[in-house]
Amino acid sequence: MNRWFAMAVPPILLLLSCSRHEVHRYSRESTAMDTYVSVTVYDSEVSPQRANALIDSAFAEIRRIEKMMTDYTDTSEVGIINVGAGKDTVTVSEELFALLKTSVSYSEKSNGAFDVSVGPLVKAWDFLSSEPEIPSKSKIRMLLQLVGYRNIVFDSTKVFLQERGMRIDLGAIAKGHAVDRAIEVLKRNGVKSSIVDLGGNLGIWWEGTHSLESPVAEILVRHPRKEGKFFGALKVGTSGVSTSGDYQRCFIKGGVRYHHIINPATGYPAMDVGSVTIIADDATTADALSTLVFVLGREKGMDFIRKTKGIEGLIVWEEGDTLNYELSPGLEGKFRRSDD
Ligand code: AMP
Ligand code: MG
Repeated sequence: MNRWFAMAVPPILLLLSCSRHEVHRYSRESTAMDTYVSVTVYDSEVSPQRANALIDSAFAEIRRIEKMMTDYTDTSEVGIINVGAGKDTVTVSEELFALLKTSVSYSEKSNGAFDVSVGPLVKAWDFLSSEPEIPSKSKIRMLLQLVGYRNIVFDSTKVFLQERGMRIDLGAIAKGHAVDRAIEVLKRNGVKSSIVDLGGNLGIWWEGTHSLESPVAEILVRHPRKEGKFFGALKVGTSGVSTSGDYQRCFIKGGVRYHHIINPATGYPAMDVGSVTIIADDATTADALSTLVFVLGREKGMDFIRKTKGIEGLIVWEEGDTLNYELSPGLEGKFRRSDD
């Protein structure tokens, strides 16, 4: 079984507002984009049949994006760009073009800590294998030459990877995008309240609320070292919330934990922190920035959060046998630590 499915869906506790009595909850779970997905619609007016159809349309939207953005096949839009690396300029959809541009803008803001051209390294580390190995130093050195967002060339609707062997991997941002699109589909169909959770990338849509100012749901943040336990909780309204952690897609060798978030400067997993949770206005931003801050590490990561308008964050790291954490200023008084 894929190890991403091993963990239960993190509970989201609804803090129902008094004005909205008799809200029905319709929820279904499935798998997509190599992880679990749950879509929940809260409504007092829709019938169960209609709610089911709405949830189906949200799942369909997520699968449409998966088909476009996966790098596991050569036939997706991303696959075609990757196959053409060093050879072909590829015309892509406006949607993918825009997401790639957004990705590169985060690379520029983080001096390359976030880089969707990290694909060759992610492939070499092969964290989904049943017996993952540490790639040799010489292999990492060689693959580092193929990583570099500056070698992704944009030309109106076309994309070209300048070097043979380059690979785009949207693992750090595509799930957030899919969550935003799924929420958009629900909104377009008149849904006033819903929560989409795609492997820990959450989209909370609750009409008339905003982020930490008007909370409707309590999000439990996973404990990075105790499976099935929670580190703490945050109360939020309409927002995107994403956690990046070193406990997913990982293996331990010689007492060292190797995991799927790679520092493009070294070719090795980013080692400074255990997890980063970002709260933003949308799930795409939260997804990208939780990965970006993870790579930057404790101090630079917290500086980045403080300097970036519209986001807040929680950074958790190991200190000897215990875990320590830091909240960005806007989360002070809004985070409740669990007793583990
Ligand atoms: P997330 O779980 O959102 O933090 O994303 C992690 C995934 O993003 C990994 O499994 C890789 O597919 C990809 N990735 C790893 N390192 C980076 C990086 N430095 N920048 C962008 N994407 C990355
Ligand atoms: Mg991410």
